[in-house]
Amino acid sequence: MSDQLIKPDLNFVKDVIASGGESLKKCFQCATCSVVCNLSPDDKPFPRKEMIYAQWGLKDKLFSNPDIWLCHHCSDCTAYCPRGAKPGEVIGAVRKLAIQNYSVPRFLGRALGSSSYLILLFAIPVAILLAVLASLGHLDLSAIPRGEGGAIVYSKFMPEIYIEVIYIAISLFAALILAHGVFRCWAGMMAAGGIGRSQMKKALLSTVVAIIVEILLHRRFAKCVVTKGRQISHLLVLYSFIGLAITAAWGVFYLYVLGWHSPYPLTNPMKWLGNAGALALLIGITLTVINRSRNKEKAGIGSYFDWLLITVVAAIAVTGMGAQCLRLADVAVLAYLTYFLHLVFVFFLFAYAPYSKMAHMVYRTVAMVFAKHAEKGVEVTPLK
Ligand code: SF4
Ligand code: SF4
Repeated sequence: MSDQLIKPDLNFVKDVIASGGESLKKCFQCATCSVVCNLSPDDKPFPRKEMIYAQWGLKDKLFSNPDIWLCHHCSDCTAYCPRGAKPGEVIGAVRKLAIQNYSVPRFLGRALGSSSYLILLFAIPVAILLAVLASLGHLDLSAIPRGEGGAIVYSKFMPEIYIEVIYIAISLFAALILAHGVFRCWAGMMAAGGIGRSQMKKALLSTVVAIIVEILLHRRFAKCVVTKGRQISHLLVLYSFIGLAITAAWGVFYLYVLGWHSPYPLTNPMKWLGNAGALALLIGITLTVINRSRNKEKAGIGSYFDWLLITVVAAIAVTGMGAQCLRLADVAVLAYLTYFLHLVFVFFLFAYAPYSKMAHMVYRTVAMVFAKHAEKGVEVTPLK
């Protein structure tokens, strides 16, 4: 047996503790967590080994380990841990640090993980949007031009072209940063597994398709016991995002292909989809909050990083629905303010996606694709 030199990173241990894994040191390696986890495979179980990696500060081993993403934070392990070490919360903290590790520039990753920077993060979209409104002379809300019959028209308050330039720019920025992070994440998992490129190319497309189907059905969430309701709430949020993305594309088609300008009547099918998506988002995020609050004793309440995303998504749903209702009720000043807040929250979600918990969607998908190769002869943790 060869000796192995362990180089612990004590700062990493402190970061895990500060990120919601404060119970980390209680773990005494009994492996109950790996036994009770329904997502953990028998031949390479988690999260016991991740607990010791985290206690020893082995961050490189954790960041290159797909298992931190295969964990779906259902918290069955946390509920049954005899030491109250909350492994689900510890792995959640490790995921947050992995997102920070993969994202550039690093300071944005740190900023999204700390409440000290929250005002600054919101100040950026507020300043950009206020600058646009000021340049248009639209800071005086009582003087915003109205549409036909005196109707409130948001595109007269903030013209579509400005929305498109700003939101396409931040979406491209986020996509590039995420692509860079995915490349590093994938390369790290390959190197840690000693896997060559030619091995990984085997049936990669069919694996990606299988994983997308798996995600669309959320079968793995169905295996959670303590937080069983997460499957429904998570699915509602996922499908609402898909519905709202289709609505946005539909709106672009109306505007640039058919030349139809908003606002569209409530009887328009595009509005049905948009409102159904917003309603699903509101219900999904409400169920998420209820689920977390109900299970806080057994499963842990979650970290600042978790709650920041929940709050921003909830704010998008509330301000989106609120802006529509206030427009229809013709409460002009409040309607414009609500719409402005909606734009700020959407900016926050899109621009900071690579640094916030939103990024888990991408990294978890990548890890699931990676792990799926176990079923095709590549030596990595198999998906259970
Ligand atoms: S986290 Fe808890 S259940 Fe898991 S090995 Fe440590 S003490 Fe045991
Ligand atoms: S949080 Fe859930 S999925 Fe993650 S290790 Fe614990 S039991 Fe398994």
